[in-house]
Amino acid sequence: MTALAAAPATSPSTPSPAPASSAYAELCELLRNTSTLGAVSQLLSWDQETYMPPLGAGTRAEQQAMMAALVHERRTSPRIGELIGACERDDALVGKAGSETAANIREMRRDYDLATKLPGELVAELARVGSQSQEVWKKAREKSDFAMFAPWLEKMMALTRRKAECYGVKAGPDGPGELYDALLNEYEPGMTAKRIEAIFTPLRASLGELIAQVGASKAKVSTKCLQVKVEPADQHEFGHLVIEAMGFDLRAGRLDVTTHPFCSGLSPGDTRLTTRYRDEKFTDALYGTMHEAGHGLYEQGLPKMAQGKRPGLFGQPLSEAISLGIHESQSRMWENFVGRSKHFWKWAHPLIGKHLSRKFEKYGVKDFYAATNTVTPSFIRVEADEGTYNMHVMIRFELERALLAGQLAVKDIPGEWNKRYKDYLGVKVPDDRRGCLQDVHWSFGLIGYFPTYTLGNLYAAQFWETIQEQIPDLNKQISKGKLLPLKEWLNENIHRHGRRYLAADLCKRVTGKELSAEPLLRHLREKAAAVYGV
Ligand code: ZN
Repeated sequence: MTALAAAPATSPSTPSPAPASSAYAELCELLRNTSTLGAVSQLLSWDQETYMPPLGAGTRAEQQAMMAALVHERRTSPRIGELIGACERDDALVGKAGSETAANIREMRRDYDLATKLPGELVAELARVGSQSQEVWKKAREKSDFAMFAPWLEKMMALTRRKAECYGVKAGPDGPGELYDALLNEYEPGMTAKRIEAIFTPLRASLGELIAQVGASKAKVSTKCLQVKVEPADQHEFGHLVIEAMGFDLRAGRLDVTTHPFCSGLSPGDTRLTTRYRDEKFTDALYGTMHEAGHGLYEQGLPKMAQGKRPGLFGQPLSEAISLGIHESQSRMWENFVGRSKHFWKWAHPLIGKHLSRKFEKYGVKDFYAATNTVTPSFIRVEADEGTYNMHVMIRFELERALLAGQLAVKDIPGEWNKRYKDYLGVKVPDDRRGCLQDVHWSFGLIGYFPTYTLGNLYAAQFWETIQEQIPDLNKQISKGKLLPLKEWLNENIHRHGRRYLAADLCKRVTGKELSAEPLLRHLREKAAAVYGV
């Protein structure tokens, strides 16, 4: 894989072959087998979202349930526990704090303890009720009928609360913990609700000011250049051109069409991207594709495959992504910091005239830059612009935290939702379909997931400032379509470490600072100044 080739083979922190400990070797082998099973299950999901005929859904659910049970059984096998214990007693493996084997074993322990805290019966119940609840959610959303979904959300909240209780609440550096932390820990290890609140509260105030300034500005920004119709087949071809320029290795990945775009890093040499097309506003698909390819580059850059003398680490924590926040930082960086920049449009503008439509030629780089950086408060998170997006996330964080703590009843969600949309974004939510029923997450118990979207934006902005310092002519390169130096920087500084560091530690290591909202605010203010003159 090209992603792996970027990391120098002699680098001192390149993962090295496993030491000659038989427990460690057996452990790595067992985990590789478990991940192989997991990859089969992911492939079933990918197929379900892309090519499976509708009548296949029944047997697919059975196949998925069977795979989930098999994977859980393997992940929690007592043999894995024994082997981890043996490795933890072996000084050659864990004696040097921060070494790769020590980090690998630390993370294996973390995974094992989390998995074994959940009774198999609860895992099965979460999967079963989650899948039913998701079906009800689809219908309820269509009809904009929250009352129809509410009893299922009650059930999912009860199961999710039970899951959090099984994980247990630990006090952290910020004081006593809360149930929410236990769930957040699945997606963003080491993060707490209090820490998120401390970051989000000032961010919300600053974003509110920025949105108000833009709202008061007299500047009129035209988005006419995005209304030119483009055939989906041409968009698909153009998407390939862009992701290849980004360095996404199509010998080790694919781009397909789906309803809800995602990226699936199945196994070594196989990363699947999906996107969706509309005739108008081709940038929705373009940015969707760049977003997923950002996730895909991370997956391809993880040391899963054998490279030269170094064995592939597939199945081991060192070959996996640190957290959802860091994963999202990779996708948002390519989508927003690269894709919505003037420099990108300098490169892409002549290309869209050539490959997509001659009609684009009557517009200029400035038109595309402005049109793709408008700030307009709206109801729908996935369609929100960069300036307002994080407000949508904060509303969900506040509500789900209150739900889990028992401070908010399910029946009161629509009212609280709409009130916050009025307060934070100044919009009146017209109905629950475009309000609290818009996202799928809560229907299958994904509580604690939303904040990672904003964390991703914050990490992306902070990494971006460091990258600008370390690759001084980066913008010039982007304007020529030379995107590989950025990809290689990400390979070297972020991807190849896998889960060696916690997200907070990686952030400090890479940027020299703790995570802060300031870089994102600087980025958004700079764009608002360029587009709206505020
Ligand atoms: Zn994403």
